[in-house]
Amino acid sequence: MSQAAVSDFVPADLDASSWENIEPLLVAMRDRGVENAEEFEAWLLDRSELEAAISEAAALLYIGMTCHTGDEGRQKAYADFIENVAPKVMPLGFALDKKQAALAKRFDLGDRYAILNRDTISSVELFRDENVPIQTELAKLSTEYQTLIGAMMVEFEGEEKTLPQMGVYQESTDRGVREKAWKSVSERRAKDADAISGIFDQMVAKRHSVAQNAGFDDYVGYTFKAMRRFDYTPELCFAFHEAIEKRVMPFVARLQARRKKDMGLDALRPWDLAVDPKGRGPLEPFDGGADLVSKTRRVFERMSPELAGMFESLGDGANDQGADGGASLDLDSRKGKAPGGYQYMRDRMRVPFIFMNAAGQHRDVETMVHEAGHAFHSMYCVDEPLMHYREAPIEFAEVASMAMELLSTPYWDAYYENTESLARARRQQFEGSLALLPWIATIDAFQHWLYTNPTHGRDQRAAAWLDLEQRFGHQGYRVDWSGVEQYRPIVWQRQSHLFGHPFYYIEYGIAQLGALGLWLKSLEKGEDAALDAYKRALSLGGSRPLPELFAAADLPFDFGDATVARLVERVEAELEKLPE
Ligand SMILES: [Zn+2]
Repeated sequence: MSQAAVSDFVPADLDASSWENIEPLLVAMRDRGVENAEEFEAWLLDRSELEAAISEAAALLYIGMTCHTGDEGRQKAYADFIENVAPKVMPLGFALDKKQAALAKRFDLGDRYAILNRDTISSVELFRDENVPIQTELAKLSTEYQTLIGAMMVEFEGEEKTLPQMGVYQESTDRGVREKAWKSVSERRAKDADAISGIFDQMVAKRHSVAQNAGFDDYVGYTFKAMRRFDYTPELCFAFHEAIEKRVMPFVARLQARRKKDMGLDALRPWDLAVDPKGRGPLEPFDGGADLVSKTRRVFERMSPELAGMFESLGDGANDQGADGGASLDLDSRKGKAPGGYQYMRDRMRVPFIFMNAAGQHRDVETMVHEAGHAFHSMYCVDEPLMHYREAPIEFAEVASMAMELLSTPYWDAYYENTESLARARRQQFEGSLALLPWIATIDAFQHWLYTNPTHGRDQRAAAWLDLEQRFGHQGYRVDWSGVEQYRPIVWQRQSHLFGHPFYYIEYGIAQLGALGLWLKSLEKGEDAALDAYKRALSLGGSRPLPELFAAADLPFDFGDATVARLVERVEAELEKLPE
C-alpha cells in the first residue's frame, strides 16, 4: 500500500453540507496543475478526502432524517442537500472524472491505482450529454411508480392498511385470514396494473435509447459496463439461472412438499407460504435494542475477540436516538423513525452507523448480524486512504454481511435458550439462504429478456414472465393458483428494483453463494480458518477485482453448476442434522 499521507487539503472542520463551502475546493481540484506522477497521486488522495467529506455530510443528513421523521428541520436539511447541493456537485464531479481519466493515461501509478482508474475511465467513456435529460425522465418515472405503490391502501378488518402492514397477515395461523388478506392485496395491486405497465413501457424504451446513444446494441451491454461488471458476462448469469433450475428447484420442491404435509393440506395456495408450517407463534429472541446488542456481543465474543472488539466499539445500543451524540447504533423501533434497516459509513471519521427497527422478532436478529457484517467490512478497511477502495462491489460486500448471518448460527443459543426455538431459527436461516435464489434468478432472467427484446408488447411480457414462473416457480412450484390466476402475470410489478435499479439483483445471488462457501469452509476447515479468510478478503475493500476478492476468501468466483450443486448438498446435510 502507498505510504502517501492523508490529504490536508480538506479542512478538518469543513461543513460539506453547504455548497458555498465545497464549491471552491471542487474548483481548485479541477484547475490544479498536475505535472508528474507524484502530483497525480496527491491529487487523487485530495479528491478522495473531499469526496469523503461530501459523502459524510450526506450520510449525517440522511441519518438525521431517518432517525427523526417528525423533525421538519431535518427533513428539510436532507431535501435541500439532495435538491440543491448534489445536482451542483455532479457536473464538477464529472469534470474531475475527465481530468482524472486523462491524467491516468499520462502518468502511470502502477497496479495500486488500477481499479480506481479503470472505474473512472469507464464512466467517462459511457457519458453522453444527450442521456442526461433521459436519465432525469427515468428518475421521474421511477418516482411515479413509487407514488402509485406508496398510495396503495386496503380496507381490512375495519381499518385502512398499507401494503407493508398487510404483510403480517401472511404469518397468521388462521388460513381464512391469510386468504382474505392475500386477495385484498392482490386485488388492490391489480387496479393499478395498467398504469404501472404504462410507466414500465416508457422505462424500457428510454433505457434502450440511453444504451444506443452510448454506442451499445442494447441496454444489457450498457448496463454491464455502467455497473462495472467487468469480471462476468451475461453468459455466466445464464449459467447461474440454469444451476438454480437444476439444483435448487428440486430442493424447494422438497421444502414445499414438507410444508404441505406439516400443514395437513391437499394443496398449497399462494397464502400458505409464509406462515410457520407447524402453527407455532413467533420466535422471541430478545427484548429491546439494548438486549439485542448485549446478546449479539455474546455471540461475537464466542466467535472471535477481534469481532467482539469491533462490535463493542459501536456502543451498547441503550438510549441511542440518532447519531447526534456520536452514537453508532439506533436500533429500537419507535414513532418518528423511518422503516427498514441499513449500515451507513461516515466516510470522513470512518465510523459506521447501524439503523434498524427492532421489534423483538427473529428477522431483527438476522438484520443485526447482517448489518454488523457490513460494519466489520468498513472497519477492516479503515486504514485505506482511498475512499473508493474502502468500499467493495456489492457482489462481494454482501458476502461480508450474508456470511455473518450463517457463521453466527452456532452461537444463536444467546438468543434462544429453548432447543426447539434454536433449531427452528437455524432451519429458517439455512432454508432461506437457498430458497431466495430462485426469485433472484427469475428477476435477473426477466431483465435479460426485457432489454434484449426492447420492442416487446405487454402480452409478450406477461408470457415471458409466466414462462419464468414455470421455470423457477416463485410461489408457483407445486402451488395451486386456481381461481386467482389473473394475478399471476403481474407479480413482477412488486419488485421495485425493476423500476428504480434496473439489473441490480443478481449481486445478491452471487454474494449468497460466496457466503454459503465461507460457511462451508467453517464446517470443513474450522471456524478460525473461515474467519481468517473472511478478514483477509474484507481487508482488501474494493482495491482488487472481484475474482481476487473471492480468491482472498478461498472462494471460487463461479456461480454455475459445480458451485451450486455442492452448496445445496451441504445445506441439505446440515438440515438433516437439525431436530424437527
Ligand atoms: Zn446488506
